[in-house]
Amino acid sequence: NVRVRFAPSPTGGLHLGGVRTVLFNYLFAKKHGGKFILRIEDTDQSRYVEGAEQYIADCLDWCGFHADESPLAGGPYGPYRQSERKPLYRQYAERLVQEGYAYYAFDTSAELEAKRKEIPNFQYGHAHRMEMKNSISLPQEEVQQLLDSGAPYVIRIRIPEGETISFIDLIRGDVTFDAGLSDDKVLLKADGMPTYHLAVVVDDYLMKITHAFRGEEWLPSAPVHLLLWKYLGWEDDMPKWAHLPLILKPDGNGKLSKRDGARLGFPVYAMNWTDPATAEITPGFREIGFMPEAFINMLAMLGWNDGTEQELFSLEELIEKFSLEHVSKAGAKFNYEKAKWFSAEWIKKTSADKLYPEVAKLFAQEGIEATEDKALSVIDLVKDRCTFIADFVQQAGYFFRTPAEYDLNSVQPKWSEQKEEFFHSFSALLSSGPDLSSAELEAEFKQLAQEKGLKVGDVMLPYRIMLVGGKFGPAVFDITKMIGEEEAISRISKALV
Ligand code: GLU
Repeated sequence: NVRVRFAPSPTGGLHLGGVRTVLFNYLFAKKHGGKFILRIEDTDQSRYVEGAEQYIADCLDWCGFHADESPLAGGPYGPYRQSERKPLYRQYAERLVQEGYAYYAFDTSAELEAKRKEIPNFQYGHAHRMEMKNSISLPQEEVQQLLDSGAPYVIRIRIPEGETISFIDLIRGDVTFDAGLSDDKVLLKADGMPTYHLAVVVDDYLMKITHAFRGEEWLPSAPVHLLLWKYLGWEDDMPKWAHLPLILKPDGNGKLSKRDGARLGFPVYAMNWTDPATAEITPGFREIGFMPEAFINMLAMLGWNDGTEQELFSLEELIEKFSLEHVSKAGAKFNYEKAKWFSAEWIKKTSADKLYPEVAKLFAQEGIEATEDKALSVIDLVKDRCTFIADFVQQAGYFFRTPAEYDLNSVQPKWSEQKEEFFHSFSALLSSGPDLSSAELEAEFKQLAQEKGLKVGDVMLPYRIMLVGGKFGPAVFDITKMIGEEEAISRISKALV
């Protein structure tokens, strides 16, 4: 029975790589009829950011990833917030000490600091362990004395020297490490709180996690985790690991960082706290106007494909087609232009009535009053021109309100009396004429231009500017019919003053 987890630390916003980790976890779980678990890893109180957990939960909601077990939803293996599980971890750390796989370390921070100054690249591990103050280097009685006196201590794992550790990563295949390269990581802190390393192993075990997908940046921690699984005697229950490739800058040069994100819409949506990396409130994909469907689709293609050329997938299709064989080992380049393409394609392929709720929200914010009927027809008419939902304000707003500005002189050749006359006549035609179709209107318009000795192109663009306020939008005669002849006449006369 497949059980996967997303285990974020609430230290800030959810970035692109983080959400992709969720996505791959989620796809794998759903594909195999398994469970998707959200576990909050908040044992590092110094990095805790107020509001981050809620933010993460909201992001998952927006994307449509519903956790089967989580701090909010609960579940049989709760609590799902590590800080609330604090009393649970000590016994495992103590057990490791008893069995010789871990030890008490009494060094004060001043002592550690002094050591770091003395030895460049100091690592608390086999090379220097005996020079430090711990239950391996000190005589038994002294250790007991320190413990009895209530001296603060941490528990560290005893990383063996010269031991090779191997495991099979579902994406990378055979991975081998020299365990001795790692330092003796702290497992339990002086305040009794576990570190990430201990908590992640204990919880993956207790929560019966079968597959652990996480970012490649965690690969260097894998040997420590593997040793813990072994030392705790849980090896047979260890989840299968998959370390996902990094997401790279557009030029492939290095990892995508918060700095790129400031422009690239780094977080899923704007955080209501100031991002320390950019020192400003960064807008996210949601504010920019990505539909969650487009966002997820774009993310999936960062490091995965279905083996064909197909690029557009719904979440259901992704679940159906997802397989680890097609996850690439190489880092995936994030390209904002491509992200925009996904956005535009999704708006194109989504029906007007599905787009309507978001567009209506936007209209309300902008003070655009639109009946649902008319909004639906307008959405249909302009959706192929929108990259983002937010573009509907520009692309559709003029159907509901008169443009505030005109620049008839932005068109060559310059505005002239001749043109002015043409529009008076066209206006008259609109008011007196029978109810013409947009094609008939176009024919009349062209004929009138000819009669006045004007090139059609010379009056067509000005007409568009009068109706729209700019040089964009669908066919002008479609616009005329949509806003109605009366409104078209009023816009022409407003432009002519
Ligand atoms: N808490 C870790 C993080 O913030 C989880 C890493 C893992 O999945 O093991 O990414």
